[in-house]
Amino acid sequence: MISHKQLFLLNNAQTSNNPNFLEVDHAEGLYLYDIKGKSYMDLVSGFAVSNIGHRHPKVIEAIKAQLDKYMHLTVYGEFVQSPMVKFAEKLISVLPEQLNNVYFVNSGTEATEGALKLSKRFTGRSGIIACHHSYHGSTHGALSVMGNEAYKQAYRPLLPDVGFISFGKEEDLENITADTACVIMETVQGEAGIRVPSLAYMQKLRQRCTEMGALLILDEIQAAFGRTGTLFAFEDYGIVPDILLLAKALGGGMPIGAFVANREVMGVLKENPILGHITTFGGHPVSSVAGLASLTAILEENLVAGVKEKGELFRSLLVHPMIREVRGKGLMMSIQLDTFEQVEKVSQLCAADGVVIDWFLHCENALRIAPPLIITEEEIRTATGVILKALDKL
Ligand code: PLP
Repeated sequence: MISHKQLFLLNNAQTSNNPNFLEVDHAEGLYLYDIKGKSYMDLVSGFAVSNIGHRHPKVIEAIKAQLDKYMHLTVYGEFVQSPMVKFAEKLISVLPEQLNNVYFVNSGTEATEGALKLSKRFTGRSGIIACHHSYHGSTHGALSVMGNEAYKQAYRPLLPDVGFISFGKEEDLENITADTACVIMETVQGEAGIRVPSLAYMQKLRQRCTEMGALLILDEIQAAFGRTGTLFAFEDYGIVPDILLLAKALGGGMPIGAFVANREVMGVLKENPILGHITTFGGHPVSSVAGLASLTAILEENLVAGVKEKGELFRSLLVHPMIREVRGKGLMMSIQLDTFEQVEKVSQLCAADGVVIDWFLHCENALRIAPPLIITEEEIRTATGVILKALDKL
C-alpha cells in the first residue's frame, strides 16, 4: 500500500527537497503526538502560531458554537458579521487609541500587501523602505520588501521604489525622506535569526517617520500576542506604529491576519477607487471567533506574565561550548551555532528525543526556539536538557 509519506511527496506540491516528514496524529497544549503515539514538545509553535498551546479548549468551544450558526457568508466588508465585529472591538481595546480600525485578511503576507497599498494611497507617495534580512511574506509585494536577494532574484521585476536599510543602524534612518510612503519593519526581526533593536533606535525610527510624513508599519506577525513578553512587542519601545501587522497567533490556530491603523488612514480604501483592498475570506467567522477566544484566553489566563522569566530560564540553561550566542526577547529566541549542518543534526537528534525545534530562513546556522507561552519551568528544563544532550553529540 502506498504510504502517506509517498502520497505527500507525489501529490502535494513541495517547497524543498528535505521536508520534515513528521506526521502528527493529534496535538494538545505544548505537545504533538505522531501516528505511532510518540509525543514531542513543540518548541516552534507552528512558527509562532500556537502561543496559547494547541487546541485550547476555549478556542475549540468557540469554533463549535460558530459552526452551528454560519461559516462564510459574503466578501469582506459587506454584511455585519458579529464574529468580526466583536473581534475587532476586543483587539482595539488592547491597542493604543490611535490604532482603532482593523482590516481582517487571511494571512500575514496579505496583511503586508494591504499595508503597503494603504501607505501609498494615504501618502500619495510610492517610496518604500524595508530592512536587510527582513521577512514579511511570500507574495509579490511582500517579496519586494524581503531583505534577501536569494529568494527574490527569480521573481524580478518586483515593486519599484523599494530601498533597504540595515536593521538597527541609526545612520540609515536618513534614507527615510519626504518621498517615503512607508517604512516596513519587524519590531523584532524573526527570520533574520531573532534580532532585537535598541530602545534608542526604535524611538529615532518613529521620530524620523513622523518628521518625514512616512507611515511606520510594524510587522508583529511573529512577535505579537505575548511572544516577546508584552502583548505587542512595540510596547517595550514606547512607540506606536501607524500600521500594525498581525497574523499567526492572531487566530489561536485558525488562519487570519490583520492590518490595523487609524480610522482616518484606513478610510482612504473606501473611495477613488472604491474597494481599495478586497478579500473574499478575510475575517472568516470561524477564524474570528477563534481569534477572539484566543485573545480572551491570553488576557484571562494572564499568559503574558512570566514570558520574560521563562525566556531568562531558557537562556540560563542554554550554556554549552558549541553555543555562540542565545539571542531573543521573551520566548522568541535563537541559539547561534556555527553551521547549518550542526543545526540540522541537533534538530534531528532533538526530534528523536521528542523535542521539535527548527531554523530560520535568513539565518540557517541558528536554532529557532519559540514554544507555546504555556510551557512550564519543568518543561523548559526537560527541553533544554534534550538540546544540550544533542549538542554534546556534535
Ligand atoms: N511577517 C513575518 C514577520 C513573518 O514571520 C511571516 C511568516 O513567517 C509573515 C510576515 C508572513 O506570514 P504568512 O506566512 O501568514 O503569510
